Amino acid sequence: MKFNSKAIHGGQDNIDPGYNAVMPPIYQTSTYAQKSPGKHKGYEYSRSANPTRTALERSIAALENGKYGLAFGSGLAAIDAILKLLKPGDEVISTHDLYGGSYRLFTRIFENVGVKFHFINLNLIENIEAHITPKTKMIWAETPTNPMMNVIDIKALAKICKAHHLKLCVDNTFATPYLQQPLELGADIVMHSATKYLGGHSDLILGTVVVNDDNLAEQLAFIQNASGAVPGPMDCFLTLRGIKTLHLRMQRHCENGRAVAEFLQQHPQVEKVYWPGLKTNPNYNIAKSQMRDFGGMVSFTTQGNSYKNAVKFVEGLKVFTLAESLGGVESLAGHPASMTHASIPKAEREKAGVVDSLIRLSVGIEDKEDLIEDLNQAIKS
Ligand SMILES: *Cc1c(COP(=O)(O)O)cnc(C)c1O
Repeated sequence: MKFNSKAIHGGQDNIDPGYNAVMPPIYQTSTYAQKSPGKHKGYEYSRSANPTRTALERSIAALENGKYGLAFGSGLAAIDAILKLLKPGDEVISTHDLYGGSYRLFTRIFENVGVKFHFINLNLIENIEAHITPKTKMIWAETPTNPMMNVIDIKALAKICKAHHLKLCVDNTFATPYLQQPLELGADIVMHSATKYLGGHSDLILGTVVVNDDNLAEQLAFIQNASGAVPGPMDCFLTLRGIKTLHLRMQRHCENGRAVAEFLQQHPQVEKVYWPGLKTNPNYNIAKSQMRDFGGMVSFTTQGNSYKNAVKFVEGLKVFTLAESLGGVESLAGHPASMTHASIPKAEREKAGVVDSLIRLSVGIEDKEDLIEDLNQAIKS
């Protein structure tokens, strides 16, 4: 089955053997009656498994061309579960412009229990190899990165991981499986904050993980049940409903993202535009080779690098909403230095390019003329 059909039907057969409902029922139950001890229809307790969650887990696995899907209570709960595959003393190599919440989880929770992280530029292969030690177990990549839209070559990372027996994990939140399928490019684990594009309507918090390896799937399912950070059936249902239009939404996000990036690029008050689809972007060729299109996330800086002007700009927006998060049908704007990346020390975040005037846009699926007009009036003000 091709992608657009999988978004609607992937993993969804025999979803309601009871009444043949076309949409997955919301099994709002914690437990399941057993005929005799241990004799049941595959469900005993909803932390271990719930049919609505199973429907979502099969759907996301189908979209990523993977064998096993797992759903968690949030994107960070999904990352937390993946990192629990590690032991004290293990080391992880990751990107220097990581999502702020992932950085916080790595440095404030997992470093406390003895896992060591190196945050480096993953586009410099020599740089990666220089950081690999016998204790290195995992490379954690995000591509495109948040908020600098750096694109990392997943195939090149996979090659290094194979050579050194490391697990390659890719946070695919910004791209979604519509644009990029990391398992196909050699990754071992793909993770999503489904809160963003998969859900797509800014009305839920949820995370997913997809893997191909049987052993890895078993370990992650054990952690999912043992640690218990599972989503409720209602949120699983909403995510499934979002996924059914993922391909259509992504097409429009990409189209509007291009229009906004091209508008900003020619604006005299704009200094730099970060969108991998611009031919002037240093990552354009990698992006073109591993992504179907370039997405709806656009970052930019304004002339003079003023914190005050950046705040004034986001306050002046009328169609874009000033808010954290991304990937919904509505356009959002954020100021990473004071919002999503405030938990990263200033020196650390400026090394990665997160300067005071940087604005991040999640370009929605409204009419692009309205979005451009809004950006134009806010820049003028
Ligand atoms: C939002 C986000 C997360 C965290 O997901 P939650 O659902 O908010 O817990 C992780 N990675 C990226 C790239 C994100 O944008």
